[in-house]
Amino acid sequence: MEILTHPNPVLKQRAAEVDVASDKDLRPLIRKMAEAMYENAGVGLAAPQIGVSKRVIIFDVDDQLSALCNPVIVERSEETEVDEEGCLSVPGISVPVKRACSVVCTGTTLDGKDVTLRADEFLARVLQHETDHLDGTIILDRLDAEERKSAIKAYNAANEPLQIG
Ligand SMILES: [Zn+2]
Repeated sequence: MEILTHPNPVLKQRAAEVDVASDKDLRPLIRKMAEAMYENAGVGLAAPQIGVSKRVIIFDVDDQLSALCNPVIVERSEETEVDEEGCLSVPGISVPVKRACSVVCTGTTLDGKDVTLRADEFLARVLQHETDHLDGTIILDRLDAEERKSAIKAYNAANEPLQIG
């Protein structure tokens, strides 16, 4: 399963809401996403990363695969923390990203149940990262101009085709 990488335009789009009750493609979509995430040793993935512009995320932080449809971060703590973050769509680099330390996230499970997740620390970071993807935002967009410039330089260097003369 191929994961789209920056600067693929699908990663820049706002993904569409899904109708959990009627969307027959959700289950196979989530299966494909899980396959892609585990194959690449990721801890979270958003549907646009495999080219499907729908508001669906998955994550596995505590050896438990969870899927959330139409997730919305409804509360963010004022307290923030900067930590190094990577992304399967921005391979080869990690960059310092400022995130709220804790969040409340609502969404719908695959069974159509509305849920409210209270998350802090790493899970809070993962939820903010994955919901960002649904709005076309990637980690490079969370940097200031200077940081972004050097991150893109490092990204291009890391992903340059190998020249063997
Ligand atoms: Zn990502």
